[in-house]
Amino acid sequence: MQTYTMPITRLIEEFSKLPGIGKKTAQRLAFHVINMNSNDVEALSKAIIDAKKEITYCSICCNITDKNPCNICQNPNRDKSVICVVEDPRDVASMERIKDFKGQYHVLNGVISPMDGVGPDMINIKELIKRLSSEEVKEVIMATNPTIEGEATAMYIARLIKPMGIKVSRIAHGLPVGGDLEYADEVTISKALEGRREI
Ligand SMILES: [Zn+2]
Repeated sequence: MQTYTMPITRLIEEFSKLPGIGKKTAQRLAFHVINMNSNDVEALSKAIIDAKKEITYCSICCNITDKNPCNICQNPNRDKSVICVVEDPRDVASMERIKDFKGQYHVLNGVISPMDGVGPDMINIKELIKRLSSEEVKEVIMATNPTIEGEATAMYIARLIKPMGIKVSRIAHGLPVGGDLEYADEVTISKALEGRREI
């Protein structure tokens, strides 16, 4: 790699830490920033700092939010008897796009993955169990992705919840195997939810 003056090298290094950004892209972005006008650079850096400062995790559903509890948990029109369990905040956004799910969510912030060293206590499972023992929940819908880890996580959680006398269901796999909820279209998500079955 070519060597650049220190401030640019630093910027390239920071960009390369981002997911999906290789050295070449990092260089391109760094030089793009140098050529931007000062106002735009300030707006960009402020947006990054503000997002980090203002975003927190909802103490109920663990979704990202700028107020706690989040809008969904605070909404009196949402059905508190159904909780849809998803892997990450992007999945909540996907589910919300279909507009016919009126229940609540629980964001695990990952899946159990022994290969990556992620154990059950490293994702928000205990928060879910705590929630289920204090709230009037009738059904938990496992909407983790149809990957090996997503399936294993759904089964693991189902085994914990069933003894509590709560119905546990799994979304149908209109979703392609290995496909992410995040990228599924509205009709597919709607059908997957509709065709859920008890596990
Ligand atoms: Zn919430």
